[in-house]
Amino acid sequence: MQVVSSISALRSLIGQWKNDGNSVGFVPTMGNLHDGHLSLVKQAKDNTQKVIVSIFVNPMQFGENEDLDAYPRTLDQDKAKLTDVGADAVFLPSVEDMYPGGLKQQTFVEVPDISHVLCGASRPGHFRGVATVVTKLFNMVQPDAAFFGEKDFQQLQVIRTMVQDLSMPIAIHGVPTAREDSGLAMSSRNGYLSKEERLVAPELFAAMSGLGESLKKGEYLFTELAQNTARRLNEAGFVTDYVKIVNTKTLQPAVVGDKSVVILVAAYLGTTRLIDNLPVVL
Ligand code: AMP
Repeated sequence: MQVVSSISALRSLIGQWKNDGNSVGFVPTMGNLHDGHLSLVKQAKDNTQKVIVSIFVNPMQFGENEDLDAYPRTLDQDKAKLTDVGADAVFLPSVEDMYPGGLKQQTFVEVPDISHVLCGASRPGHFRGVATVVTKLFNMVQPDAAFFGEKDFQQLQVIRTMVQDLSMPIAIHGVPTAREDSGLAMSSRNGYLSKEERLVAPELFAAMSGLGESLKKGEYLFTELAQNTARRLNEAGFVTDYVKIVNTKTLQPAVVGDKSVVILVAAYLGTTRLIDNLPVVL
């Protein structure tokens, strides 16, 4: 696997690949890779001839009181995992190369409406940071296709909207959430959980699945159902940020008659904020 750190080295590698007639698949990550990330790489390998993964902990998408400094950085293990899974290259830009003028003077990309609800409401500026860094990475890598996890459902919708609105010639693939046997969605932030919290964490998926079953049975008092699920989570030891049942496309509250909805959950376990979601076809 090739390791490139500078933008010029990246451009010459990608240029070479394209000259040789290869399609390029791209998987952006913040590192501390687990099987969820690796499933994106596998999907990329199935769809494109060359696969490049980026590892960049993006300061622009972290709020002031969030975990930027504490975010786990495990580069050696990450490189070994990417080599094993057959990625062709990893791109490791520095913060200075990514934001040469600093964060304050940076031109940004803002996707309206869906960036400001749910996680966007709880984490102001988060999706602006995501949309901006993904645009920059897309301009650097110029991939034919890019692969994102459904785990970050709102993020995926923000990226899809951005690509469509800005006419970016990149196919966006959503990849299903990889879970542990307990149902807990794999996440770099699971590493923050204490032993006791780890035992409670699977309740997030269990509660969400219970709500999904109720919806499939035809129950439609969406607000009440979501409140009951939030109560169940709080009783288990979470501090729930939100439980919402929304239209899959617009992320606006589901209404009776919607055929495709998604349950979105964000909840704290101690100081760790976990998110998960479950698409439900009604
Ligand atoms: P992150 O490193 O957390 O920014 O995630 C990088 C990419 O991996 C994003 O597209 C995430 O949605 C995706 N991802 C993270 N966790 C999972 C998971 N459990 N299953 C599938 N994709 C995931």
